[in-house]
Amino acid sequence: MAGKGPRIAVCPGSYDPVTNGHVDIITRVARIFDKVVVGVVDQPVRKEKTLFSGEERREFIREAIADLGNVEVEVFSNLLVEFARQHDAAAIVKGLRAISDFEYEFEMNQLNRKLAPELESVYVFASPNYSFLSSTGVKEMATFGGDVSDLVPGPVAGALIERLKR
Ligand code: ADP
Repeated sequence: MAGKGPRIAVCPGSYDPVTNGHVDIITRVARIFDKVVVGVVDQPVRKEKTLFSGEERREFIREAIADLGNVEVEVFSNLLVEFARQHDAAAIVKGLRAISDFEYEFEMNQLNRKLAPELESVYVFASPNYSFLSSTGVKEMATFGGDVSDLVPGPVAGALIERLKR
């Protein structure tokens, strides 16, 4: 979307829960766009039932990015390109980790391009420290009592222990 007005990016994901890798991407995107809308997918198709509700996932992100003045967080349950249009976004921005994300993102890129040719998709490489960090991996570690305090924001680490206690 060319022209005037603030440059807005949408960063979609399931964020179940948000990790330091997500926070790193959001922080970096917030430096290059005027405004970032983090879109929390309410019920992801690709995943089984989420561990945390949409509202819980949203609040974890809000807490983690509270010091960033130009980031908003919202739960959405419509089509991503519709959500992006509602927010007048110029781009969908996604983080790319080691290899594994590529094939899926490549396919989604083609589909979204077909649905919304005016909306550009932009990919930001994960920082090396977080290249192998996923929400799924974090949940698995936490389930078996692993220490995840270096991988997720503090409140998330606490909530994971609470939720996954067996
Ligand atoms: P996950 O695969 O961890 O469940 P999400 O579906 O919540 O991730 O992903 C939201 C976005 O964040 C996606 O663009 C994903 O590629 C990206 N992402 C996830 N983890 C990281 C990470 N550790 N570093 C960079 N980007 C990431």
